[in-house]
Amino acid sequence: MNTPIPYLQRLNNGRTVWLDGEIVNDLEKHKAFKGTVQTIQHLLNLQTVEPTKSILTYETEKGANAHLSFLVPTSINDLKRKSLAYKCWVDETFGVMSRLSEYSRSQLVGWYASRQQLDVLTPGIATKLEKLYEAARDLDLLSTVAAHDPQKNRSKSAEEIEHGKLRVVTKNEEGIFVSGAKTIATAAPYVDELLITSYHKRGLDEAPMANIFYVPTSAQGLHMVCRESFASTDTSNHPLSSRFDEMDAVLIFDNVLIPWERVLVAEDPELAWKLRIETASSLLSQHQTVVRLISKLESVVAIGNELAETAGATEFLHVKEKLSELIIQLETIKGLLNAAEYEAVEHNGIYLPKQRFLTTARNLGTRYYPRALEILQQIGASGLLQVPSTIQEFDGPIGDKLQAYYGGTHTSAFARTKFIKLAWDLIGSQLGARHELYERFYSGDPVRTFAAQYQNYSEKDRLLKLVEEFN
Ligand SMILES: Cc1cc2nc3c(=O)[nH]c(=O)nc-3n(C[C@H](O)[C@H](O)[C@H](O)COP(=O)(O)OP(=O)(O)OC[C@H]3O[C@@H](n4cnc5c(N)ncnc54)[C@H](O)[C@@H]3O)c2cc1C
Repeated sequence: MNTPIPYLQRLNNGRTVWLDGEIVNDLEKHKAFKGTVQTIQHLLNLQTVEPTKSILTYETEKGANAHLSFLVPTSINDLKRKSLAYKCWVDETFGVMSRLSEYSRSQLVGWYASRQQLDVLTPGIATKLEKLYEAARDLDLLSTVAAHDPQKNRSKSAEEIEHGKLRVVTKNEEGIFVSGAKTIATAAPYVDELLITSYHKRGLDEAPMANIFYVPTSAQGLHMVCRESFASTDTSNHPLSSRFDEMDAVLIFDNVLIPWERVLVAEDPELAWKLRIETASSLLSQHQTVVRLISKLESVVAIGNELAETAGATEFLHVKEKLSELIIQLETIKGLLNAAEYEAVEHNGIYLPKQRFLTTARNLGTRYYPRALEILQQIGASGLLQVPSTIQEFDGPIGDKLQAYYGGTHTSAFARTKFIKLAWDLIGSQLGARHELYERFYSGDPVRTFAAQYQNYSEKDRLLKLVEEFN
């Protein structure tokens, strides 16, 4: 029987998280992590109280409640329920937290739903997937995924085996032993387990690196090396950075044992690629990324409108045009999500959102978000810096002057300053800059994801025929 252990208890399970040259022993208390830990705890609590419990969870065949990210969708309605659950959580973070486990969970759900087909390719995988899925679902495990080799030399030929890359070094009856690095794992310090995959197609010469497995974050020999923290402890001046820094980490494996029951693929480039592009797993995880993008774009539209309102700039034609561009971004992605769900396709007994629309939304997102930030800067202009260093200065000796000069068209100086602090956290802070990079790259190199969309476009032949027929 799987009985969930409280999140905070699970956090202190001996995981090796490196920050500023030291191992962080207590994430719950450490200033770089505690705000986000509290946020995650809050999100988990929402699963237990109404009205959010009904939005976030469903009843499993064992009679327990599980997060809807674990639901195997057998109807369009199931997909919509999953959407609402994703939206509910990400909205709580103002659209900022992207890797709230639903992404990696969805990959597992996809493989689990396709386990009988996968078992034909690699006998035994169905049983492993059942166990991994049930444990993750019943224990409400949090997870994230790391798929990429460290950026060392992207031009090196595949024949040269680079020792920085995560690879199998030896194996025995217990499992495989892996060493090397994977990058980047967003949210790694906060989660229970990591899904390690292989993103690019590999040749036989790279077989030692062609692995897919699950590893607990507490595994011996696993080091999670964090980037600089962008977290603040000051919620009033940094409302987003103080609560939603997901952290990104490089994972360094030092001869880590991965037991066979957690290994889905070992040293098999062809199988690793088949799982990587497996339809259900890819589409269910992409589905989550599009929902959370909508939440983020909603926040952008809200901030853009308020920036314009508070500066009395809404009547300028070009400002309206720019605000409209933000709205068009949002409505386009919403439309694509609706289309993907409405035109969901039955696949091996489950319902999957239509790929064409999800891929379009995901690719557009890589261009939309940097453009959205540009628009917010153009509208906000120096108003984004017309704030005292801290909001507490309103209570200080210069408070009355701030009250006199810092107001907006319809808001008090204090309220406007509070709003600008929020806007800056999204647009100009370290966290904000990281988010721009995230949207450009989180789902792969956009150059290659765009090229792949062209390559795989199923309507190409039909459209080419139009030219033939017309001529
Ligand atoms: C903030 C952030 C969070 C992330 N979180 C995660 C995560 O949680 N899990 C995860 O698995 N990944 C994550 N990623 C990684 C992400 O998937 C990669 O950034 C993305 O796939 C691009 O790979 P790369 O960063 O290694 O860039 P590179 O592949 O090193 O590319 C660098 C440049 O070289 C070009 N280039 C490199 N190789 C080629 C080639 N063969 N052909 C043409 N051009 C090439 C690229 O176009 C690019 O301009 C995250 C990334 C960011 C920025």
